[in-house]
Amino acid sequence: MTDTYKSELAFVNRFTRALPADKIAENYCRQVHGAAYSRAIPARVNNPQILTLNESLAIELGLAALLDDRQALAQVLGGNSLLAGMDPYAMAYGGHQFGNWAGQLGDGRAINLGELTDLQNKHWTLQLKGAGPTPYSRHADGRAVLRSSLREYLCSEAMFNLGVPTTRALSLVTTGDRVVRDMFYDGNPQAELGAIVCRVSPSFIRFGNFELPASRGDNDLLRNLLNFVIEADWEDLAIKLKSSVSDKATTDVYLEWFQRVCRLTQTMVVQWMRVGFVHGVMNTDNMSTLGLTIDYGPYGWVDDYNPDWTPNTTDAANRRYRFGNQAAIARWNLYQLANAIYPVVQDAETLQQILNNLPSEYEMEFADMMRLKLGFTHTSSCPVSLIDDLKKLLCLHATDMTLFFRLLSGFVPEDSDCHLPELLRPAFYDIHEMSLETMRSYQDWETRYRDGLLQDSCDQQQRKLLMNSINPAFVPRNYLAQQAIDAAEAGDMSIFSFLLNTLEKPYQDPSAANAHLAAKRPQWAANKAGCSMLSCSS
Ligand code: AMP
Ligand code: MG
Repeated sequence: MTDTYKSELAFVNRFTRALPADKIAENYCRQVHGAAYSRAIPARVNNPQILTLNESLAIELGLAALLDDRQALAQVLGGNSLLAGMDPYAMAYGGHQFGNWAGQLGDGRAINLGELTDLQNKHWTLQLKGAGPTPYSRHADGRAVLRSSLREYLCSEAMFNLGVPTTRALSLVTTGDRVVRDMFYDGNPQAELGAIVCRVSPSFIRFGNFELPASRGDNDLLRNLLNFVIEADWEDLAIKLKSSVSDKATTDVYLEWFQRVCRLTQTMVVQWMRVGFVHGVMNTDNMSTLGLTIDYGPYGWVDDYNPDWTPNTTDAANRRYRFGNQAAIARWNLYQLANAIYPVVQDAETLQQILNNLPSEYEMEFADMMRLKLGFTHTSSCPVSLIDDLKKLLCLHATDMTLFFRLLSGFVPEDSDCHLPELLRPAFYDIHEMSLETMRSYQDWETRYRDGLLQDSCDQQQRKLLMNSINPAFVPRNYLAQQAIDAAEAGDMSIFSFLLNTLEKPYQDPSAANAHLAAKRPQWAANKAGCSMLSCSS
C-alpha cells in the first residue's frame, strides 16, 4: 500500500491523459500492445535516505514547501509515497541497441511520477530511476545501485552547469536495500547498495517511443504520439497542427518537427564534443526527442584526446559509440526515427532531404563551436583546415583535452617568444617523448594559429575571457567520479559534495582548494576499473 501526501502542486499529467494506457493493470513482464504506457506504482523500499537534494532545482520546480519535511520527502523520492495528483507510469518504447533492432524495451526501472508546471508555466516530468519492476523489466529487478546513480546525478548536473542540454537530477536516495550486480560480468556478483535518482525533464520521450508502434504497424498510436509531442513540446507547431486544413499542411508540421529534432540532436552532439563527453550507449532508446542528454550509463570524459575512445566495455570491440563517431551515430539514429515516423508522414523525399543535409549542417555547427574554443571571433580568421589539423595534432602526443583548451587562452600571438609546446606542457601526458616530427607539426600549426589570431584582431584579455567561458576548467573526470563513489560506498559523501559544488562553476579558474579537481588524470587511474572504462552493469 502506497501512502499519498497532500500537496499544493498542480500535476497536469498530459502524457497519461492524452495517450492510450495499457489495459492490463497488473505489474508483470509482458509485451504491451496498443498503449503508450503502463501504470506502475514504485515498489516499497526498506529505508529511503536522502544523500543529496538539489534544492535550487526543487525551488525552481515549485517544490519549496516540500523541503521542510525531509522524512516525508525521502519517502516520496524513494518511491514509498506519492503526492496527491501523481499518476505513476512506465513508458513503452523499443530501440536499436548497438545497431540491431531490439524490440520492446520500455521503462524497465524508471517510473514517471507525474508532470507538473513550475512558476514560469514550464512543464517538468519527475521520474524515479531504480524504483522497482514494471511490465518492461524483462526479468531484471527494476533497481539501480549507488555507484551508477551517483554517476548519473553528478554528470547530469555537471552537464547542466557546463551548458550542455540534459535531463536534470533532483535527488539521490539510498533505499536501504541491497541489489546484486555482477559489475565486471565475470561471474562474481556482489550485493551493492541500492539507490534511486529522481530525474527531471520537460520530456522523457525517446526515438524508441516511435520505433515501437512503427515496428508493429500501429499507425494510430504512432500518429497519436506524434501529435502529442508536437502539442506538448512546440507551441508554434501545435497551433499550426490544430489549424491545418489539408493533409499537406499536417505533413509539413510533422516534417518541421522532425527537422527540429535533427537540429537539437546535432547541437547536443556538438556540445558533447566541446566538453569531451562520450555518452557510451547511443542506442535509439537513449535518444531524447528534445535533444537532451539522457540515460547516463557507462559514459566517460575524454582525458587524453582520442577520437577512438569509448568508455563502454560492451562497446570495446567495435567502438560504435566512440568519441569521434557520435555525430555519425546521431545521424544513424535520426535515420531510424525518420523510418519510424514515415508511415504517418508519408513524404520520403523530404525526410531524405533533411537527412542528407545533416552532415554539412553538423560540420558547420562543429566548426563554429571549435572557432570559439580556439578564441576566434571572426569565421574568416579560422579556416576549417586549422580545425581539422588540430584534431590530427592532438592525436600525435597524448594530450589532456580539457587542459589543452584551457591553457590555450594563455597564448599571446603578439609575443614571438610564446610557444605552444611550452605553454601546453601541463596538458601533455608524456612530454619527454615528443618526437621531432610532432614538434614540427606543433610549430607549423602554431604559426598558422598565430597568424589567424593576429588577423582576428581580438583583444588578448577579451579573448581569454571568451575562451574561458567556453573551455571548462572542471569536468567530472572519470577517476574523480570513481573516487566520489568509493567514498560514498564507505559512507562518506564529502568528496562527492565537494566535487559537485566545484562543478557548479566549471568555467571558474581553479583555486588552491579545488586545483586538484582541474588537474590531469593521475597515472594510477589510466587503466583502473571505473576510472577508464565501465560496464553497463548498473
Ligand atoms: P539502458 O541501457 O540503461 O538504457 O537500459 C536498456 C533497457 O534495459 C531499458 O529498457 C531499461 O529500462 C532496461 N533496464 C536496465 N536495467 C534494468 C534493471 N535493473 N531492471 C529492469 N530493467 C532494466
Ligand atoms: Mg536507457
